[in-house]
Parts: sequence; structure tokens; C-alpha cells
Amino acid sequence: MKVAAFSIKQFEKELLDTMNTNRHSITYFPFPLSPGTAEQAAGCEAVLVFTNDDVSAPVIALLADLGIKYIATRSVGTDHIDKEEASKRGIRIANVPAYSPEAIAEHAVMLALALARKLIPTVDQSRRYDFTIENHMGFNLHKKTVGIVGLGHIGKATARIFKGFGCRVIGFDVCFPEDALGVEEKNFDQLLEESDIISLHVPLTPESRHMINEPCITKMKAGVMIINTARGALVDTEAAIPALENKKIGAFGLDVYEYEKGLFFADHQSDVNKDPLLAKLLDFENVIVTPHQAFLTKEAVTEIAASTLSNLNKWKAEGDDE
Ligand code: NAD
Repeated sequence: MKVAAFSIKQFEKELLDTMNTNRHSITYFPFPLSPGTAEQAAGCEAVLVFTNDDVSAPVIALLADLGIKYIATRSVGTDHIDKEEASKRGIRIANVPAYSPEAIAEHAVMLALALARKLIPTVDQSRRYDFTIENHMGFNLHKKTVGIVGLGHIGKATARIFKGFGCRVIGFDVCFPEDALGVEEKNFDQLLEESDIISLHVPLTPESRHMINEPCITKMKAGVMIINTARGALVDTEAAIPALENKKIGAFGLDVYEYEKGLFFADHQSDVNKDPLLAKLLDFENVIVTPHQAFLTKEAVTEIAASTLSNLNKWKAEGDDE
């Protein structure tokens, strides 16, 4: 099958090439899929995309006109794809349903630990040979209440790690799983009211967009820590800024940002006009931003490449049978 792969990093190209063993002819593009780059897929049957590619209705229409039959995203989330338009144009979609959930869970817990122990300002200070400790008082995770929102693959893996720290783990899910061992089931309001740390692990849907908004923040404990490794728009970022200023939110760890598309995965150091909302977030000492890299472990990217090729193999086999 002829395939156009967008937003490809060198490490992905190497993995896909090694595992592909020439079954598919894959052309790699480092730039994202967009209205301006879609035509690069001419002559292909499938495109490979990632979370910040533009897979909106107009781009899908362009792809359909080029004869694209399949879109495989190298991610769990499919919120960036207009699935209705794809179905209308007869284009099939596949994702990577689950890969190393521990990669994302460990990143979420790392953000929580780093914030609880003021790691980033401490290390910055050490680099300046300032070894005073007066401003570095942290807190134990032990015995804190951690609220996990979304108990799917990643939420459950995160819960297991926090349990290991001796935390009380509570959880909310629209479909609470039977195998979330040791996680106390709560409704959303109870979780907001009781948690010292809230970690988000739900997909972005119309229902979950801005699920952390101003009224929700009001219900939270003073000084709550929020960790978001799921999707940026789960949090109303505009509402988080004043809550950080008045210390209602005590710490905020984000691997995903509401307006990350076109920003994350590229070097923007020399941009004259920086994203003002992100600039505000980055100014807080008690905020850590990582650029959507919770998935970035050798184990996870290997599984993503294998699963992506398995999607292509399945479509090729179905095509060969027709
Ligand atoms: P999953 O499908 O296994 O679990 C999601 C859970 O959320 C399910 O149990 C579902 O019932 C629940 N849910 C859905 N909507 C909800 C709502 N409105 N309120 C409460 N619960 C709800 O998914 P997963 O593999 O655990 O991944 C979760 C999310 O993490 C993905 O959708 C993706 O957006 C994000 N993710 C981020 C990265 C990263 O690198 N930062 C990597 C992988 C996944």
C-alpha cells in the first residue's frame, strides 16, 4: 500500500522502516498535514497522522478527492479527526487503541512529584550555585487523596502508581470499570471536593471539553494540584490563570495545552509574538509544561509503530481479498 506519513520524527521513521519490511511504500514528511500539504498524499491510499495534524472536514475532503481511503493516527486520541466527514467520504479511520499506558501514567506522576517537591526551581537554583533551601518546602504524596478522572488504560495505570505511594485514590468515570482495584468510586463533584491532586485521563469529546472550568475550580480544595496529560481543552485555561494567581490552584502540571496545535513539536524560540496564554502559564513557578511528550518512551513508540503497521497490514489484506 502507498502511504503518506505526516509529522514524522526521525525516531518514528527508523522504527516504521525496520518493522515495515517493505510491505508498504511509505513516504515520510516531517511537516504536519494541513490544507497546504494534503496534496503531498497524491497517489497514496493511506495517510498516517499524529495529534496536531489538521484532519478537519476541509482537509478530509481534499484527501478524499486525492483517492485516500484510510487514515491511521499514531495516537490513542482521535479528537483531531472529523470522523463524520471521513465516514461521509468513505474514508476509514484507525487509531492505536492502547500502548504502554504506563508511559503516560509515569509522566503524570513525575509531574506531580516534581511539583510537590518544587524540583524545577530547585534545580534552576542549584545551577546558579545557590544551595539555600528556605523556599523549597514541599509536601508528601503519602496519605494525600488523588482523584483520577477517567479510569481507562492510563487512568488505572496512574491509580496503581499513586497507590504505591500510599495515597488514597478516588476516581470518576462515566463507565466505572470493575477492575479499578483499590480506587473508590465517586461522582465528579465529590472528586473535585475531596482531591488534593486531580489527574485527568479522559478523551476530549464535546462532553469533556472544559470539564475543568471556573465553577468546577470553585468546588476544589484550596491549593489543589491539577495534572493534565490527556488533552489540553479538558481544562479551560483562561479559568485556570486567575485560580493560579489567587492560589486556589496550588500547582498545575500540563503535558497538553488547549492551543498546542501549530505550537508544540516545533522550535518557537525566535517567534516575536508568543502565545500570550501559554506565556502567562510559563511565568508561574508552580506550573510545569511539557510539550505533549508523555508517550515518548522507547517502549511506547515501538508499540505505536507496531500497531500503526498492523492497521495498514489489515487494510492491505482486506484490499487484497476484494
Ligand atoms: P481509554 O479509552 O482506555 O480510557 C478513557 C476513559 O475515560 C474510559 O474509561 C471512559 O469511560 C472515560 N470517559 C470518557 N469520557 C468521559 C467523561 N466525559 N467523564 C468521565 N470519564 C470519561 O483511554 P486511555 O488510553 O486511558 O487514554 C486517555 C486519554 O489520554 C486519551 O484519550 C488521550 O487523549 C490521552 N493520551 C495522551 C497521551 C500523551 O502523550 N499526553 C498519550 C496517550 C493518550
